[in-house]
Order: sequence, then structure tokens, then C-alpha cells
Amino acid sequence: MIMKSLVVGPLEANCFIIADENTREALVIDPGDEPDRILDLITENNFKIKYIVCTHAHFDHVGAVPEIKKETGAKIVIHRDELDIYERTRDLAALWGYELDPLPEPDMFVSEGDKLEIGDLRLEVLHTPGHSPGGICLYGEGILITGDTLFAGSVGRTDFYGGDVEKLKKSFKRLMSLLDKVKVLPGHGPESTIGQERANNSFSYEIF
Ligand SMILES: [Zn+2]
Ligand SMILES: [Zn+2]
Repeated sequence: MIMKSLVVGPLEANCFIIADENTREALVIDPGDEPDRILDLITENNFKIKYIVCTHAHFDHVGAVPEIKKETGAKIVIHRDELDIYERTRDLAALWGYELDPLPEPDMFVSEGDKLEIGDLRLEVLHTPGHSPGGICLYGEGILITGDTLFAGSVGRTDFYGGDVEKLKKSFKRLMSLLDKVKVLPGHGPESTIGQERANNSFSYEIF
């Protein structure tokens, strides 16, 4: 497995590219901004992008989707429960003073337990609502991509449109049931592990 990451945009979102070493098949997760940098990385590494996966549809995670879609033709993947937000993303971004290109329609809806295959790699979709209704994590190959559901030391806000703190508690508990050694790759900030988060995450104290 090859894993590349870039910090993009004014909110410093983590964009990840996961690729299969042999086939160079790859997926892009949360291309939030700076499409040229993301596309350069794809070209330099000769990645063949199969999916553009949005952990959720806040503008800082989808801003570069139009360009990446145009240049790679890859399938845009979201959870069905996120469609409402996805369709409002431009309006919500405008409230924050950001102008976004129109988002192409999603090509594929995923739900809990679905698996995305790239070459020999398998990543499973975990539906983890709370920060947003159709928030997902991708789990497999020893890593967990968490979007804004889980950060190193904290969790995503629940006061945005569609947020729900009770749902976030359930999602958090569920992630904490994974093995200690699983590497956590959040939508913002540094990486962590499930073991570290179970021990240190401030949200643990509200729940356990
Ligand atoms: Zn978010
Ligand atoms: Zn975010």
C-alpha cells in the first residue's frame, strides 16, 4: 500500500491518496482544495484514480472534487445520507465567504459495510454519523480514515447543519472498539492510533 497526504485549503484539511503498489490503482479521499497540487501528486506517482471518496460533504473536504473528477474521470463516492449536505455545500460555503465550483453529481452511494477495492487493497465503509448525517470512515489495511468524526485528541463539531451529538457518541464508541494498533488518519491535524485515542481523547471522558 502507498499512502500520500497533502494539507489543503484555508481550513488545512488532510487529503489522502491510497494506492495499490502493483497496479497503481488509487483512491483520493477528501480533495478539499488546491486541485493542482493533488493532480501533480497523482501524475508524479502514475496513480490511476478509481474513486474520489468524500468522508462527508463540508466544503473543506470537497472543494477540489470538480477538478479531480474532470481530470481523472474517477467515480465520486459519498454516503446517501450525505446527499442533502452535498447539494447544499456551495450555499453553506458561501455563508463562510468561500466560493465553490458546482459539484458534479455523485456517481456512487456507499453504505455501512460496503468495500472499495483498489488493486489488491480493500477498504471498508463505516457509517459514522454525528458530525454530519452521512459521515463515513474508511477502514482496512491497518488504517482508519476518519474525516471530521475523530481527530487526535478530540472529535468534530456537532453544531453544524445536520450534526447530532448523540449519534457522534455512538460513532465514537464504535471506533473505540477497533484494535489499539489501528492507525487513525483524521480530516484535520496529526495522525494517531485507536489505542492513543481510547486513552487520551477528551471525548472519552464524556462517554465512558
Ligand atoms: Zn466537516
Ligand atoms: Zn473539515
